[in-house]
Amino acid sequence: MNTNSLRFAVIGHPISHSRSPDIHQAFARQCGVNVSYTRIDAEPSSFESTVSAFFNGGGRGLNVTVPFKERAWTMASAHLSQRARLAGAVNTLWQADGALHGCNTDGIGLVRDLTRLQMLSPGNRILLIGAGGAARGVIGPLLAAGCERLHIVNRTATRAEALVMIWRQQQAAGATRLSSGGFDSLSAEPGWDLIINATATSLHGETLPIPSGLWRESGAVYDMMYGAQPTAFMVQAQAEGAQRLADGLGMLVAQAAESFRIWNGVEPAIEPVIDLVRGQMRSAVR
Ligand code: NDP
Repeated sequence: MNTNSLRFAVIGHPISHSRSPDIHQAFARQCGVNVSYTRIDAEPSSFESTVSAFFNGGGRGLNVTVPFKERAWTMASAHLSQRARLAGAVNTLWQADGALHGCNTDGIGLVRDLTRLQMLSPGNRILLIGAGGAARGVIGPLLAAGCERLHIVNRTATRAEALVMIWRQQQAAGATRLSSGGFDSLSAEPGWDLIINATATSLHGETLPIPSGLWRESGAVYDMMYGAQPTAFMVQAQAEGAQRLADGLGMLVAQAAESFRIWNGVEPAIEPVIDLVRGQMRSAVR
């Protein structure tokens, strides 16, 4: 590490799989910024003290991943961006005037990637599957992008309903365009412009109980999960007739680009870095 480099890291548990160091080093080369970016594996019992020690030691910014995003939100609760406040989770931390600040860049990353892929337009009807942390983080930016309707379905339907309630109670912009239900609500709702998978099912190769006609009539299909091969969700959608599909690698790179912009004031191009990481993933399985 160069002594003049700005220090950044991603903190999680486990963390060895994280691609963030490669992504941020590629941004740094592209933008001519001298950066050191490492992985920090924090024991759950010492997350807060590890974050404090990092910033007290001169660290400039932290990305936060599973399982600490909610705890990062609590730590930065006095200085949250609007996006982080509604998302209930923080993936980007920095210090300003001695105080910890937090933002959530997942949603802006998703919207930027969908826009790049020409999968998102104002007036779209969007089906969001899943009601965990990732789903909650993308609701605000999807509404802000101008969708006409955002319907959230989840295996546990009450969790999807709870997300809609949060938006309504906070009278957040676009709350009236939100609706929710279980998978049984889908048979009555054909013809989505965009279907987004925000469940963890692709991690385990599982499929979802989606009515088969739904895929054929849909404009585009996006899985937040990513890998060297098409994800289980993409394989299911393609077998059922979906034509336009993408995985979440572009979202991963684009959320990192927004963190980089917050910290360094310069916005890197994401396309070359998506290509780089895709190439690395493919060579790793050869
Ligand atoms: P959470 O654990 O918070 O939520 C998991 C979600 O998956 C819940 O909605 C859960 O439903 C659902 N689920 C789990 N198993 C099943 C199943 N067998 N059938 C149906 N639904 C199921 O996870 P996150 O929200 O943090 O992450 C979700 C996905 O998004 C992961 O694949 C993650 O890798 C990806 N992600 C990608 C990012 C990117 O940059 N590309 C960024 C963030 C996340 P229930 O409530 O009923 O349990």
